[in-house]
Amino acid sequence: MYVGRYAPSPTGPLHFGSLVAAVGSYLEARRQGGRWLLRIEDIDPPRERPGARDHILRALEVFGFQWDGPVVFQSRRTGHYEAAIQDLLEQGLAYPCGCSRAWLRARGHGSVYPGICRRGTAPHPEGHAIRVRTHDEPIGFHDRRWGPFAQRLEREVGDFVIRRRDGFHAYQLAVVVDDAAQGVTEVVRGEDLLASTPRQIHLQRLLGLTTPSYLHLPLVRDAEGHKLSKQTGAAPLDLERPARTLWDALAFLGHRPPHALREAPVRELWTWALAHWDPTRIPPPRCAVSPSAIPVPTADTRS
Ligand code: GLU
Repeated sequence: MYVGRYAPSPTGPLHFGSLVAAVGSYLEARRQGGRWLLRIEDIDPPRERPGARDHILRALEVFGFQWDGPVVFQSRRTGHYEAAIQDLLEQGLAYPCGCSRAWLRARGHGSVYPGICRRGTAPHPEGHAIRVRTHDEPIGFHDRRWGPFAQRLEREVGDFVIRRRDGFHAYQLAVVVDDAAQGVTEVVRGEDLLASTPRQIHLQRLLGLTTPSYLHLPLVRDAEGHKLSKQTGAAPLDLERPARTLWDALAFLGHRPPHALREAPVRELWTWALAHWDPTRIPPPRCAVSPSAIPVPTADTRS
């Protein structure tokens, strides 16, 4: 049974790029007769905006998405993330780290953590992060749109943070624990997370979890070429005329619904989309960039 999911963080209201990711994952789940789960990734309170969670749920309803089962909130699942961390610590696969970003930067280290605390760390007044050990064997997977993609984590990312110094669990860990717990078989999301996937596969292997398949969708960019982002204040979805915006999202994903459906009730556009969705129509990656040319979000910025 195919199980897909949509997993927005409540760092702001949904924007057109968020809608594209939701539409792609939803239609792919339904095309395969699968379930589509909704998970609110609310594990980073310092970055969350008041009201964003309710806006997201309302927007998904207005746009006519129908998710299966109850909405899962990551803020209620921290015990599971902590259990995974204890498991990794007990196996010697993770370790406490007292190096702050500022401290590393001042010593000329870039975004790749050089493993300073691998052999132990002195108690630190501001507490410790927990990092997971990486290795230099390539970790690869076949993305359904991008094709093969691999990283050597130790060299390209370094041991990455799974629990931050402020005590919050990192996205990379929570997403892996939850995708497995919810039985997700395919992750369909924006391609900004392509370069996070080898880290997630690494964690799946260390924790003995199954690796789902992956499909990374094209990103919606603004006029300057930056990804639309909730955190940088991309325009919220207009909830007044959902059919027009949904039509645009389908067009962005390579589909051409009849023009008249822009003015029809949104459920008529869904009927068309469910009958015509074809993932091979999604535009291919814009150019053949080598994996190392893709900006890799650092463990700390994604965590
Ligand atoms: N929570 C992430 C976001 O809103 C998406 C995570 C994922 O799909 O793996 O960007």
